[in-house]
Amino acid sequence: MTARRNRPQGFSTRAIHLGYDPAEHDGALTPPIYMTSTFAFETAEAGSEMFRGERAGYIYGRTRNPTQTILEERMASLEGGEAAMTAGSGMAAISSVMLTILNPGDEVIVDHTIYGNTFAYFTQALTRFGVIVHLADFTRPETVAELVGENTRAVFFETPANPNLRVIDIAEIARIAGRAGAVVIVDNTFATPALQRPLEFGADVVVHSATKYLGGHGDLLGGIVVGTADMIKQVRTTGLRWMTGATLSPFNCFLLLRGLKTLELRLERHSASAMAVARLLEDHGKVASISYPGLESFPQFDLARRQMSAPGGLIAFELDGGMDMGMAFMNKLSLVTRAVSLGDTETLIQHPASMTHATYGTEERARHGIGDGLLRLSVGLENVDDILDDLDQALNAL
Ligand SMILES: *Cc1c(COP(=O)(O)O)cnc(C)c1O
Repeated sequence: MTARRNRPQGFSTRAIHLGYDPAEHDGALTPPIYMTSTFAFETAEAGSEMFRGERAGYIYGRTRNPTQTILEERMASLEGGEAAMTAGSGMAAISSVMLTILNPGDEVIVDHTIYGNTFAYFTQALTRFGVIVHLADFTRPETVAELVGENTRAVFFETPANPNLRVIDIAEIARIAGRAGAVVIVDNTFATPALQRPLEFGADVVVHSATKYLGGHGDLLGGIVVGTADMIKQVRTTGLRWMTGATLSPFNCFLLLRGLKTLELRLERHSASAMAVARLLEDHGKVASISYPGLESFPQFDLARRQMSAPGGLIAFELDGGMDMGMAFMNKLSLVTRAVSLGDTETLIQHPASMTHATYGTEERARHGIGDGLLRLSVGLENVDDILDDLDQALNAL
């Protein structure tokens, strides 16, 4: 019995309980929402001491709030990091980190297949401030090694990558970037810590669009950053407080705390249903190609199995007849909903070339492996037979 009690608590137990004791809140089972912009100082001296960092306590809601703190402690634990910081959206999390660590003249190496607005942030926004951005194919780590130099301040990638699910070897990239002392930042939105923990493979910082699986119900926008206590302190006091001001509402923290409670459970079901959908699509005569990390035909099937505990809920595929057929197919769906975003209870489908990745130029998309006919499906939590029936009827109606 003693040995059992000494083992660390499991993922879902921490997602449900960590950092909150009802006894400290009049027995309330669920953490209260501290909907306050500012915090009263007991004395003038106490306030001054807090500002000097000599006394613990909450000062003002842009940087810290007690509802946020519970969520941050839980996310830090789930990702295996020392600390975490919430932000108003995934883009707010990413930009708060980058604005904290970058100076003009610094170089950043970014994988060439990432979420469209992150791509625009790196290639169109940061470049305006004298940051040099290199794109590379991170599935071939040697191309990253060729670009790493003494000015490389950060490397950034998603795995699995949005929208085509390419999987990147986190440990290998961390090894290459570590030689130059660059900060390795992984966007873990697609896998979530329920399936993959990049810090365990040597990454320095994890960022999330909490809008997706962490929230999980399509009712909020949010972002999270996880890293060392020192890094998070810097991002909070510089990136968040001075530069972006992109604070997450305590109400959204409450919704995210609720989402986290079922994260592991949901990802198991998303993965199982996506596997069934992937098999249907792979075997269908009208499907030209499919990319899903759980299929033996997936080019990085072994790497995905090593790095992720399950393949996740996203599938990318292309129909015979390319973009026109893909658009016609989307219009024939009735249960599956035409919408961007992902990780929700509802099954969602979208067309990256004209939607989430329209920030890429046509040639850039071709060069970066985002086909014009590619469709991205986020398999939801409806009964899998209903999802399969809807996809099947739409394919057969073409
Ligand atoms: C959606 C998304 C983002 C941006 O997050 P927002 O919450 O929409 O700002 C960043 N990275 C990935 C992988 C995403 O899917």
